[in-house]
Amino acid sequence: MRDSFGRGGKLFVVSGPSGAGKGTICKRVKEDLHMDLSISMTTREPRPGEVHGKDYFFVSEEEFLRNIEEGNLLEHAQVYDHRYGTPRDAVMKRLDMKHNVLLEIDIQGGLQVKRSMPESVLIFILPPSLKVLRERLTGRGTDAPDVVEKRLAKALNEIKLIGEYDYYVVNDELDRAVSLTESIIRAEESRVPSKIMPLIRKYEEEE
Ligand code: 5GP
Repeated sequence: MRDSFGRGGKLFVVSGPSGAGKGTICKRVKEDLHMDLSISMTTREPRPGEVHGKDYFFVSEEEFLRNIEEGNLLEHAQVYDHRYGTPRDAVMKRLDMKHNVLLEIDIQGGLQVKRSMPESVLIFILPPSLKVLRERLTGRGTDAPDVVEKRLAKALNEIKLIGEYDYYVVNDELDRAVSLTESIIRAEESRVPSKIMPLIRKYEEEE
């Protein structure tokens, strides 16, 4: 997505508790708005069907640590038993090309991005209730009951950090949640930028 006023692209971070549906929302938003979705690096094993370089860059612990040391990650966090991080160069390159970039990352990572790039826009995906979240996590059938309880406790701790985010979207109905997320992104594209001179100059040059 381009901006004719010389402004770079915007960075959008989408986070939310496990089971809130942020992955599904991001996939839809990426397609509808033709956005660049950042591909994260992780130390976890690929799940069936996942492709290196498409879903994630699957790397060893050593390689991940080396990337941290070399400053290659915009943010990184330990999520459950694995490390996840956002490769910095790919994001910066796209922003320089005036593309908007979408990061689907956990809340610890979202807060790091906000600190280093305060103009980024943070969107928090909420489940309608913890009861619904429990039903979704149980329904997935991938987690044992004690794991589900652990995820719920973590979800509540994460929700307590929502004040650090700019927007929230309750994922009660997928189409509505996607459309609301897209409206936030569209509105942010029209926000008057902090550096307004390129915008004014464009009109001055026409005189
Ligand atoms: P999964 O292993 O199910 O794909 O992802 C687990 C969690 O890691 C999700 O909450 C996802 O948003 C988060 N995650 C994925 N990539 C990144 C990343 O680059 N950085 C951070 N901080 N979290 C990530």
